Amino acid sequence: MTTEKFSTLASVVEQLPSHLFCGHEQVFIKRDDLIHPIVSGNKYRKLKLHLQKVMQENKNRLVTFGGAFSNHMVATASAAASHGLKSTAFIRGEELEVNFNHYLKTASLFGMEFIPTERLAYATKKNSLFDLHFGKDSGAYFIGEGGESEEAEWSASEIVDELPLDTDIIVLASATGTTAAGLLRGICASKRSIKVYPITILKNAQAQQLKLDNLSIPYNYEIISEFDFGGYAKTNDALFVFIKEFISATGIVIDPVYTGKALFALKSCIESGRFESTKKIVFLHTGGTLGIFSDRYLKNIGSEILVCR
Ligand SMILES: *Cc1c(COP(=O)(O)O)cnc(C)c1O
Repeated sequence: MTTEKFSTLASVVEQLPSHLFCGHEQVFIKRDDLIHPIVSGNKYRKLKLHLQKVMQENKNRLVTFGGAFSNHMVATASAAASHGLKSTAFIRGEELEVNFNHYLKTASLFGMEFIPTERLAYATKKNSLFDLHFGKDSGAYFIGEGGESEEAEWSASEIVDELPLDTDIIVLASATGTTAAGLLRGICASKRSIKVYPITILKNAQAQQLKLDNLSIPYNYEIISEFDFGGYAKTNDALFVFIKEFISATGIVIDPVYTGKALFALKSCIESGRFESTKKIVFLHTGGTLGIFSDRYLKNIGSEILVCR
């Protein structure tokens, strides 16, 4: 079997309606959400090199960590199933009990097994947990939480070659900064002058800044940290109004944890003049569309159903 289970074609770049972005005529979106319905966006990019290794080394199980709202965990479960592999996720025990949500159920659908783990062990002993449970299992392959790894950065760097040649700015939702780091590597390697604006979707701007600074490649990015809405998976009404307006005007699904916040930030930055109207902006859709389809979020989308009489 090969890793060419998922399309290797470059995802399309589409223009977004200017009325959604204060009249800006040059806002585009790179549709990495279309790579695969479950293994979407940057989670596919992050898994790609791992899957190549797994197949070369004849491993038979992917092992990773997952939070109850982890796109990486679901992507790992789905990618494992389509490559004939088994999958296991360490998950904090209390989340299995209280939060057996649609992420965990979707991962279960692909056959993922869970190992409930105490909060402390989960937080501090990730690698040793793997050794404890799979140290003697030569078929098991470990992938870090959120898919964070150097391999992940290298495959994210490939996105740069797929961007329109006249791209001035790329904007994306950023959590570990891995995808942003990959973009910077790609931009540096291709000698293009694209500026990267990572939008931090949780309160870790300093850590992300450090990670990108440590790449020690020419400074070509600016972290935007004012749009985390209070922290990871925190939301407000204005965010849901924007998400509903965006989805109904474009047909492109975005979520409240990642891409919804980042597009909201993009719009606000255009509004405030931070992004000039002459610049060609590409928003990277990093996937994660499963996020909006939880009752918890859908109930915020509005109670009035439009009925024609
Ligand atoms: C995981 C994820 C991110 C964050 O990517 P990083 O490389 O960790 O910064 C952004 N958007 C979506 C939809 C994600 O699932």
